[in-house]
Amino acid sequence: MDTTQKTDKKYYAPFFNRYPITLTKGKGTRVWDSDGNKYIDALAGIAVNSVGHCHPKIVKAIKKQASELMHISNFYVSKPQANLAKKLVELSGLQRAFFSNSGAEANEAAIKIARKYGSKNGKSGTIVSFEGCFHGRTLATIATGKKKFQEGFEPVPEGFLQIPFNNIEAFKKIINKNIAGIIIEPVQGEGGINIADKKYLQELVLLCKKENIVVILDEVQCGMARTGKFFAFEHYDVKPDIITMAKALGGGFPIGATLCSEEIAKTINYGDHGTTFGGNPLACSAALATINTIEKDNIIEKTETLGKKTLNKLKEIAKKEDSIVDVRGLGLMMAIELNFSGRPIVERLIKKGILGNVTADKVLRLLPPLIIKEKELNYVVNILIQTIKEIKNEQHN
Ligand code: PLP
Repeated sequence: MDTTQKTDKKYYAPFFNRYPITLTKGKGTRVWDSDGNKYIDALAGIAVNSVGHCHPKIVKAIKKQASELMHISNFYVSKPQANLAKKLVELSGLQRAFFSNSGAEANEAAIKIARKYGSKNGKSGTIVSFEGCFHGRTLATIATGKKKFQEGFEPVPEGFLQIPFNNIEAFKKIINKNIAGIIIEPVQGEGGINIADKKYLQELVLLCKKENIVVILDEVQCGMARTGKFFAFEHYDVKPDIITMAKALGGGFPIGATLCSEEIAKTINYGDHGTTFGGNPLACSAALATINTIEKDNIIEKTETLGKKTLNKLKEIAKKEDSIVDVRGLGLMMAIELNFSGRPIVERLIKKGILGNVTADKVLRLLPPLIIKEKELNYVVNILIQTIKEIKNEQHN
């Protein structure tokens, strides 16, 4: 344990079960620790560093903006914020953008807006979510999620209902006029990379339209080119009413966004919702530089191609490895589901110079920076498979 880790252990609130490394530097797909060890970041700060660590264009944009104007109140207009709103509206096909600082905040805003819109239409405000979902750690967002995240934090806000994912009959059973909105990830991240079936999502959206239920797509993890499209919903040919974003949007700088239709935006009054920092010039400049990089460097196309190749490779490997229950993915959002707990694998990977992740206990989640080259990703996959075999053998002996 180095001195920073000792300080952290003593003073940081024990919310995270940390791995024992102190990271000090990042560049591209790599990060370095305080002892000078190098790692490939195959988690990308949990789908944040999509264009890599400290991308020069983003660093430049932040430096420039920081020297001009970092923060102003949302009582005033700033050029980066107006330009980012315009860009996200153009990319999404929706009409309005509101900015916050994180994914949970983007979802809080979405839930409030959906309820406000519903209240104008005589609805009681129920928000439906789906098993395996994750929308954040604020009180309202934990109300959408797992019971495990609610324990000890009761009373959780009312008016939330969770039903099975990828099961249209479950929705048909509960659909009623009081439902204000649904919130769904086209590809569930924390839940284990569970991909919504195309027909399912299309039918779900159609049923919602019929009952004037607001469709909120949480693209916090699966958006920003991660799945090989700018937005994951583009795989589905559906039109959401609200989209939430965060994570990779700022290229490492914190920012969240809630995009909505004009019809929904019309029900919002001045003062209904707000934020001090959300969408400040610094965050918006970082986001504009990130989107610009994604577009200029053809990151969407590269992600789609590399994602398909890697998934095929993983599928071939899975046929020969009995501890792999399933592999799945869309773009560079991939999962290897095991028949045993994955944490020891992640710990071993660190020793081998790779930052990986396990979610839903048995699912190894691969979320590399989207700029990763094929050779480097193949290296990660090979080490990963080798480590799965090692740990499995050790556990059997
Ligand atoms: N929504 C999804 C799909 C997420 O994956 C996450 C975080 O993992 C969140 C919301 C919450 O985002 P944040 O941690 O920025 O509040």
